[in-house]
Amino acid sequence: MNFRSQPKVELHTHIEGMAPPDFIRDLAREKRVNLSAIFDPDGGYVFRDFAHFLSVYDQACTVLTGPEEFYRLTRAVLAESAFHGVIYTETFLSPDFCGGGDVVAWRDYLAAIAQAASDAERDDGIVLRGIATAVRHHGRDACRKAARCAAETAGPFLTGFGLAGAELDGRPADFTYSFDMAREAGLQLTAHAGEWGDPGRIRETLDALGVARLGHGIRAIEDPALVALLAERGITLEVCPGSNVVLRAVDSWDDHPIAKLREAGVPITVSTDDPPFFHTTMTAEYENLSRTFGWGHDDFLAMNKAGIAAAFCDSDTKDAILKRLEPAT
Ligand SMILES: [Zn+2]
Repeated sequence: MNFRSQPKVELHTHIEGMAPPDFIRDLAREKRVNLSAIFDPDGGYVFRDFAHFLSVYDQACTVLTGPEEFYRLTRAVLAESAFHGVIYTETFLSPDFCGGGDVVAWRDYLAAIAQAASDAERDDGIVLRGIATAVRHHGRDACRKAARCAAETAGPFLTGFGLAGAELDGRPADFTYSFDMAREAGLQLTAHAGEWGDPGRIRETLDALGVARLGHGIRAIEDPALVALLAERGITLEVCPGSNVVLRAVDSWDDHPIAKLREAGVPITVSTDDPPFFHTTMTAEYENLSRTFGWGHDDFLAMNKAGIAAAFCDSDTKDAILKRLEPAT
């Protein structure tokens, strides 16, 4: 089956983590920064494990030094997503990487990214919304600054607030203040949980942060009562199977719990997370899911509808995307 042309909704990407290695390498050359340690001989990113991945990620980000770089990055990654059939996507934007948590600087970065999104919508037919994201392992104070940046810029483009980084750093309740601030500003909420953390952490995340979606959430499968709770509340999981396999959050595609979670009635979506790091694309994710679980176009259409239902955008945008999901399938 050809999955590349099927229209897709993708909810869980990190803008810096989507940066093609060539893009980062060219910027490093322009800026005379030596990043040779983060690339393998074939030119891809190289890392040993999740902790090292986070370090390589941070090093790659050192050459993304201004709004102009983020404009170019956003155009590059949206063109790539559109090539793989993505028509609606959301991406995590980190105020830490965009101005160091300073609201004035963040506004400039965000304006450049929003302009790139608008230009890509015109040229590539892909719609992007931004989710400002705190990075857990950058500390609680940095998270509060990120939340303040998010709250100050909530609007038609910046529609969500999230939490990424090393999941086991601190407890979910450490970030309640930041999430309350974002909620009061009208932002919709998601947090990475249950990628590395156990079901107890997922419950804590739901209780402390009041999120509508979970990044990953796959370890919920270890607790049937939690799975039932997610299904009952309609908490949507942003599942990134290729990322989970490469980072060894699961042993293999066959062992991935996505199909069981779906069968249990949990709203499931599929995303690439940081695609070049995990040698994946949305087309590859669909192909692997089809090969492993026998899913076809109709399964993916249902999943994309669940994705747009849980998307952090207004109802007019949802209606327009829904119309575009149907015809080509
Ligand atoms: Zn992620």
